[in-house]
Amino acid sequence: MPALGLGSWKMGERASARSHEMAALRLGVELGMTLIDTAEMYGDGAAESLIGDALADVRDELFIVSKAYPQNASRGRLTRACEASMGRLRTDRIDLYLMHWRGSVPLAETVEEMEALKAAGKIRHWGVSNLDTEDMIELIEAGGGECAADQILYNLSRRGPEHELLPWLAARSIPVMAYSPVEQGRLLTHPALVTVADRIGATPAQVAIAWAMRREGVIAIPKAGSAEHVRENRAAADLTLSTGDFAALDAAFPSPRRRIPLEML
Ligand code: NAP
Repeated sequence: MPALGLGSWKMGERASARSHEMAALRLGVELGMTLIDTAEMYGDGAAESLIGDALADVRDELFIVSKAYPQNASRGRLTRACEASMGRLRTDRIDLYLMHWRGSVPLAETVEEMEALKAAGKIRHWGVSNLDTEDMIELIEAGGGECAADQILYNLSRRGPEHELLPWLAARSIPVMAYSPVEQGRLLTHPALVTVADRIGATPAQVAIAWAMRREGVIAIPKAGSAEHVRENRAAADLTLSTGDFAALDAAFPSPRRRIPLEML
């Protein structure tokens, strides 16, 4: 998987933003951000449709990640949900298909259905989102050893996963997809982040994204609706933070000393 992708939550929902959003996605792909993250939930399929319309002709260059509602992660329903997503995305396969969060469907049933989709060639890999360590342990015990990713809320202001979940996933070589790497924009005016960014001639968004991607096996998926933000975020992949930068960020955003439950947006 590419280490930096493009998020799509809130895209495809406003007709007036459509041409900018399509151009932003295309530019991101041209710049090498070929991992596209979406979900059936986003705009009730509108984000998937926008991606299909914007990128169908370059489909083979993409790594498409989509997600099913937990209530659809069941026998019978998952295949229908997956096929509907594929239709909107204008593709014959999804590269990574995730259960969006845990619901009431038994994990063993979801695993079975995901494996069936894989065997049928409709998806290449499957994974989960918003699962904390205990849920991951249960998933593996339910036969989910092929789980290919856990997509979680992780950024400078949400460092809880560092205590237990990130080491647990790393020990099993399960990639992490860090969502909301700039905390939906709320991080960008934080004085410590602005200070580090100014010192190294970068932007706060670039520092936050580079920070989220600093660990091996962690992929960041910022959402950007404009060409300017896409270019800026793409350059974050080439930014190297120094020990001093990390120390300044640690002082302002300390890693928790004890385990805190996984948060979600
Ligand atoms: P995010 O990527 O942290 O932030 C997106 C917001 O930041 C947008 O308002 C965007 O504005 C702004 N932004 C992006 N780049 C910027 C830049 N360089 N300078 C200034 N502002 C910038 O938040 P997110 O959309 O919640 O998370 C990213 C993706 O993760 C989502 O789109 C979605 O694909 C995924 N996600 C998954 C889950 C889950 O439960 N699995 C939950 C949340 C998100 P513009 O649009 O104007 O560029």
